[in-house]
Amino acid sequence: METVEKDTEFHLSYSRVATYIKCPLRYKFIYIDKLPVKEHSYFSFGSSIHKVLEIFYHPEKNFINMKKPPFEYMLSLLDEHWISSGYATKREEQKAKEKALKILKRLYQETIFGFRPAYLVEQSFSFHLDKFKVIGRIDRIDYTNNGYTIIDYKTNRLLPRFFKITELLQPVVYYVGAKESLHLEKIDNVFLYFVNYNKKVKFDISDEMVEKGKNKIIQVGEAIMRKEFYPKPNGSCASCEFKDICPVYNRK
Ligand code: SF4
Repeated sequence: METVEKDTEFHLSYSRVATYIKCPLRYKFIYIDKLPVKEHSYFSFGSSIHKVLEIFYHPEKNFINMKKPPFEYMLSLLDEHWISSGYATKREEQKAKEKALKILKRLYQETIFGFRPAYLVEQSFSFHLDKFKVIGRIDRIDYTNNGYTIIDYKTNRLLPRFFKITELLQPVVYYVGAKESLHLEKIDNVFLYFVNYNKKVKFDISDEMVEKGKNKIIQVGEAIMRKEFYPKPNGSCASCEFKDICPVYNRK
């Protein structure tokens, strides 16, 4: 019999809500049935870059405090924190590492002048919303005279031309998390930082966006509690690891 996670354990996060919105059945396979999710090279690639930037901007472990030459430090972090899983061949992994190096080099060149360590990195938060607990983690929070800046790194291969409602939810969740859980009152900016392009996309979070975002999260939470786990075919079905057991995939 299907069981929804017990109330005491149940929580929502941006990625859970986004997974549910995209396909409720896939949500069930991952979070309720806990079926194994395939290791993808792009997850390893993204995690490797995140780890390098986390330490490079770390309030204590940054190159200034560590008294290290900055670029050499960045390279050593990439070697130390490179994740090899998910690549089909050694050659593929090598090419990915070269690409990571290129991204970091460009990012370094364009940001090293005026470098300031972050106020916080990899900061967890949680807040209550209606009967739900929402958790998350913010990649980086900077502090300037104008207030706090929230930054989430993205390693997408393509730069989105526009943002869907689901993606807007992410900056909203970080904004609410920073305010309600971390009690950072003056949040100046929320950015998604597409590191492949060294491009920061700024989101001006309005009260209306917060309201809409919160309502969407509650709506998803309630649908999960009602066990509404129907298949929702979408553009990513071909790469879904559950397509062989999906009741609709082969009937499309
Ligand atoms: S194949 Fe598509 S419809 Fe089926 S579970 Fe996966 S994402 Fe959902």
